[in-house]
Amino acid sequence: MHLSSEIAVDLIEGRLAKAEETFWRGHLGVCRGCAQDIARWEQLKADMKRSHMKSASGEILSTVMEFFPYQRIENEPRCPSVVATLVFDTFRDLALAQARGASAARQLVMRAEEFDIHIKIWGEPDRRQMLGQLLPRGTPKFVGTARFHLLQNGERLETATNDEMGEFYFTDVPEGDLSLQIDLPNLTVVGALNIKDSRG
Ligand SMILES: [Zn+2]
Repeated sequence: MHLSSEIAVDLIEGRLAKAEETFWRGHLGVCRGCAQDIARWEQLKADMKRSHMKSASGEILSTVMEFFPYQRIENEPRCPSVVATLVFDTFRDLALAQARGASAARQLVMRAEEFDIHIKIWGEPDRRQMLGQLLPRGTPKFVGTARFHLLQNGERLETATNDEMGEFYFTDVPEGDLSLQIDLPNLTVVGALNIKDSRG
């Protein structure tokens, strides 16, 4: 994902929440297109300040107009995307799930690139919650801030950011074909969750 005009302006004006700002600063370090956009917004802001009280010059107006065709951003190559694989899932072992009882928490581990994603899902079908943790493997690397999206049929249901432990939390997890999307500054990770009621 890339900077929208709204986020770019909020970032320059210092209106973003700390976690959001950290995320986008990280992205700017690795995405040349967005770094150029931000540089132009900053130039625009400086121009506006210089020309205060005067009417906007033709040059400024044309710069403003250039930011409006959103499809330009959509056409840019996206951050590389990888699919997380399920390496462990208590629900794959039915006997284990039944031994623990129908309402036992489901635990699964997904793996992508140098990250493990530990996930725990529990609660009644109408009040199911999910706690996850993004853990770097191997040499301890700080994860920083990522954004986590709970998706159903490609639509975002909830978005969360991780805390300093790499943990993220979704409060309302429905049944059905769900997937988790993780936006890291330089990488997007997607993994299927497939939540099914164990009493099915
Ligand atoms: Zn970008």
